[in-house]
Amino acid sequence: MCIFCDIIDHKIPSKTVYEDENVLAILDISQVTYGHTLVMPKKHFANIIEADEETAALCMKTAKRLAGKIMKNTGAAGINILTNCNEAAGQTVPHLHFHIIPRYDENDSLILRFDPSPEQDLDEVLKKITAE
Ligand code: AMP
Ligand code: ZN
Repeated sequence: MCIFCDIIDHKIPSKTVYEDENVLAILDISQVTYGHTLVMPKKHFANIIEADEETAALCMKTAKRLAGKIMKNTGAAGINILTNCNEAAGQTVPHLHFHIIPRYDENDSLILRFDPSPEQDLDEVLKKITAE
C-alpha cells in the first residue's frame, strides 16, 4: 500500500495541479511555502535511483515547466526543485516525487544549508565516486 498510488488511483483526495498519462502533480498537503507542489510518476518507483531514466526525465520536464508557471503566478523570488531519496535524506513517502518549493525570502519556512565540511581531498573523493 502506497499513499501516492492511492492518490493517483483517486482513492485519496488531492488537489491536482497537472496530470497527463504518465505524471501527476498535486499540492503538497504541508505547503512548506505557498504553492508547494509535488510531481510524481503514475508508475510506482520507490525513489529516483529505482526509477528508469525516462520516467525520471518526464517528471523533471514537468517540474521544470510547472516551476516557471508557479513562480510567475505566485511572484516567488526563487524556487527549489528537489527529491529526497531514502529516510537518510528525509524521504517519508517511498514513491518517487519531486518537490517544487517556491521561495519568497531567506526567512521563509524552508531551511536548506550547504555548510562546507572540513577540508577534503578532492582527488580521493573523485576517484571514489567515479569508480566502476
Ligand atoms: P518526502 O518527505 O520527500 O517523502 O515528502 C513527502 C511529502 O508528501 C511531504 O511534504 C508531505 O507533506 C506530503 N504528503 C503526505 N501525504 C500527502 C497527501 N495525502 N497529500 C499531499 N501531500 C502529502
Ligand atoms: Zn506508489
